Amino acid sequence: MLHNNLQINEKNHLTFAGLDTVELSQKYNTPLMLLDVAKIRDKMRIYKNGLEKYFTKESFPCYASKALSIREIYRIAKEENIGIDVVSSGEIFTAKSVDFPLEKAFFHGNNKTDFDIEYAIKQGVGFFVVDNVEELLRVDNFSQKFNVKQNILLRITPGIDPHTNAKITTGQVDSKFGTPIETGQAFDIVSKALQLKNVNLKGFHCHVGSQCFDSTAFLDAVEIMLTFIKDLKVTFNYECDVLNLGGGYGVRYVEKDPFINIEENLKLVGKKFDETVKNLNIKKPLVVMEPGRSIVADSGLTLYTCGSFKTIEGYKNYVSIDGGMTDNPRFALYNSSYTIYNASRVNGQDKVVATIAGRCCESGDIIQENVEITKPTRGDIIAVAVTGAYNYSMASNYNRITRPPIVAIENKNDKIIVKRESFEDLIKNEL
Ligand SMILES: *Cc1c(COP(=O)(O)O)cnc(C)c1O
Repeated sequence: MLHNNLQINEKNHLTFAGLDTVELSQKYNTPLMLLDVAKIRDKMRIYKNGLEKYFTKESFPCYASKALSIREIYRIAKEENIGIDVVSSGEIFTAKSVDFPLEKAFFHGNNKTDFDIEYAIKQGVGFFVVDNVEELLRVDNFSQKFNVKQNILLRITPGIDPHTNAKITTGQVDSKFGTPIETGQAFDIVSKALQLKNVNLKGFHCHVGSQCFDSTAFLDAVEIMLTFIKDLKVTFNYECDVLNLGGGYGVRYVEKDPFINIEENLKLVGKKFDETVKNLNIKKPLVVMEPGRSIVADSGLTLYTCGSFKTIEGYKNYVSIDGGMTDNPRFALYNSSYTIYNASRVNGQDKVVATIAGRCCESGDIIQENVEITKPTRGDIIAVAVTGAYNYSMASNYNRITRPPIVAIENKNDKIIVKRESFEDLIKNEL
């Protein structure tokens, strides 16, 4: 199977994290999102142990909240003793609501509003990742107002294009994120930051992309960023404490995607980091990484009920499901690949090739095209694998469809961690 939390039982049903998905869909109804908590913990530990072992003892991962920002994930991150990255006051609020220790939070975003800056300082967010000069000055102003010295990193664009999807590459020079080295602007912003009284420049951040299946982009980033840090030492006699390399290791969505061994990759990047630090003769900074997708994606599975199987003679087959782009907009946004199962009858003689279509009034509301599954009929459960990242966090109420619940599974126990939205929820802000 695609991942080791997916199996087929004696009833020919799909199981997830050890539980029968058809039984779960009867118990909770569909659409339904499942989360495999053991797998999430496992991933967090791989990053934590790898960063401590191959970089420095103080190094740690931050979970990139945007992949799935719900209270339970912050509880888990807190228990696993890792940091988080946040991109909005709403994410800060959510983390704070379960007493996540915000000194281990990194606040990102290319446009933090005055409200965000004030809110984050008041809540005690550990690090601002400052995007640009105007924001830098604003953070300094607010820090002065609240009489604090705010720790910051500067977001630097190292000029790397990791050749993944254009919409998810962020490390190249022309980007809406950060300040580029190539144009000399990175040096200018450092020089400004060093003059300000109420910010403490702890180091730098870069994020080179997403869905990377090897470490090429990270190895380049290490070289470029450490060289930049060396240049700053020479020019400003400045020593960097923290280097945040961002997120971006890939996830296996379909059989033809490779498996990636995160620990081996951390080892490789750590070796390069050690060598480069030695060659350049600089102080070893603590290293942070911010994995999002690779922590939660394969811990998620979405279950739907098939409403119809329809053949357009001479064209194709459509399987209509009771969810769609409102809970998973990724095919509509990026043409993302997914693996689909008929969870009610995984193996079967009667395989068909079909397009899995959502229920929205939008022809682009497709989950996947041309997938091979056992021919479904109305009532069969359709499972979409690897939906833990950027599904629920991107969900909407288009067509007034309510968001599905999330059920967490740990040690074969299932429990609701996010309730299904109600019709009342749909109108609660309307007068
Ligand atoms: C999106 C993002 C991440 C996480 O990326 P993944 O591909 O989900 O690992 C980390 N850091 C920053 C700054 C990001 O924008």
